[in-house]
Amino acid sequence: MKEKNRKLTTASGKPYVEHENTMTVGARGPVLIQDYIYHEKMAHFNRERIPERVVHAKGTGAFGTFTVANDITKYTRAKLFGKVGNQCRVLIRFSTVGGEKGSADTERDPRGFAVKFYTEDGNWDLVGNNTPVFFIKDPKKFDDFIHTQKRDPRTNLKSPTMMWDYWSLNPESLHQVMILMSDRGTPFGYRSMNGYGSHTFSMINKKNEKVWVKFHFKTLQGIKNFTGPEAEEMRGKDPDFAQRDLVDAIDKKDFPKWALKIQVMTGEQAKNFRWNPFDLTKIWSHADFPLIDVGVMELNEIPKNYFAEVEQAAFAPAHVIDGISWSPDKMLQGRILSYPDAHRYRLGVNYEQIPVNKCPYAVNNYQRDGFMRVDGNGGSDPNYFPNSFDDIYADESYKEPPMILDSNIADWYDRNAEGGNDHYTQPGWLFNKVMTKEEKLNTINNIVSSMSGITGPKRDEIINRQLCHFFRASTELGIAAADGLGVKIDEKMLQHV
Ligand code: NDP
Repeated sequence: MKEKNRKLTTASGKPYVEHENTMTVGARGPVLIQDYIYHEKMAHFNRERIPERVVHAKGTGAFGTFTVANDITKYTRAKLFGKVGNQCRVLIRFSTVGGEKGSADTERDPRGFAVKFYTEDGNWDLVGNNTPVFFIKDPKKFDDFIHTQKRDPRTNLKSPTMMWDYWSLNPESLHQVMILMSDRGTPFGYRSMNGYGSHTFSMINKKNEKVWVKFHFKTLQGIKNFTGPEAEEMRGKDPDFAQRDLVDAIDKKDFPKWALKIQVMTGEQAKNFRWNPFDLTKIWSHADFPLIDVGVMELNEIPKNYFAEVEQAAFAPAHVIDGISWSPDKMLQGRILSYPDAHRYRLGVNYEQIPVNKCPYAVNNYQRDGFMRVDGNGGSDPNYFPNSFDDIYADESYKEPPMILDSNIADWYDRNAEGGNDHYTQPGWLFNKVMTKEEKLNTINNIVSSMSGITGPKRDEIINRQLCHFFRASTELGIAAADGLGVKIDEKMLQHV
């Protein structure tokens, strides 16, 4: 029933009159403890903040539509892709990674690109970045790595020394570091950048056949980036540039669009691939695995309430749907656990019932109770399975093919990984083959500017170690970076390369 009463009330619905003055003893007297309305206002205010996301704290969201434009049913039986023209509502959250909630949008950082597809077979979350690779390929390194992107424990300042020390000691980061140091590390807002699912996923078709898949969202606005100096200027001028840019565009009905594409690798191709196809620091070359069109995502609605629909939005790589599944990518496996865990901490165990996270189609299970269970909690229906009372059943048609493993040796190391220690070939392709002259120059300038911030007794050691990595990827890059940093290249250094 629509509430017609517009009277000012307490949270429990009691109309009250005095909203701005506390009850005191006389005009100058102390405040009475019985001014419950004051307590209620302050107590709620004191609790307005929920834990900030440890990573991806600064973010922007929008709703939109995804439309299927090409038939990929030979790869997937996902109902969403069942027919060209099928549509579903989506929610996207863009973000920076390392900064706090109040940090500037134009920091040099990867950008989060998380999409929630509200499909009839459940919510599918593709929780990626604007880069196809990542700094690490094992989730056990994640906390260490992120600490280096946050604040120094003593100075409480961001520290190029920590960042480059870690990157130079963890050369698998090189590919992502190169992208980060290119102008793609400072995109012009969120509309003009690509998104990538980054991990290898799988698709399963009606015949229960499986292929490995990578997802790419290509911006239809065209790639546009800030140069290093332009991004720095914008950090001071408008720290919320990317938020404003997205809201302004959508308010003006200039709806941004991305083309969703996939790369497909068969099981046989995976066996013969030069690298581990589940290694998050590697891409699959387009020449060998061409992009296949899937559909178009359009963002056309700014959420009415930021806290309700963006701050409380919870994306998780654990949320796949029938016809789309995971792979043995270690980072993906780690994130399957850590994302829902983070949401349970940040939003509570019933976070999937918050309206923005709730599947708009049927949800039937026996999960009950817990903090903030506000959806009726299953009413008087049975709370156990199997039972003799309701008609909920496990639908066998959703069975996935079994996962076939090619090893039964449990170990911590990637001893036999194909090309496991080749951290250099693909960054070399990026610099030598893909970047234009101008992009190379800007990348070198950004590297030199960032590495010039390395200080302290280990400065030279860190710089030399990182320069060796650049040399291994591209001699041209190594020489240019060394030159910019004023490092003399001697025989000893080249011997390490
Ligand atoms: P291609 O020439 O077919 O593709 C190059 C890709 O690089 C394009 O997707 C392009 O994106 C993207 N790109 C251009 N400049 C940059 C940059 N500064 N940072 C990140 N990406 C950039 O080459 P290959 O497929 O053979 O890959 C060569 C190298 O390109 C890889 O080693 C990798 O570093 C990079 N790359 C490859 C991707 C892949 O999935 N194959 C994806 C992204 C990067 P766009 O077309 O939108 O301009």
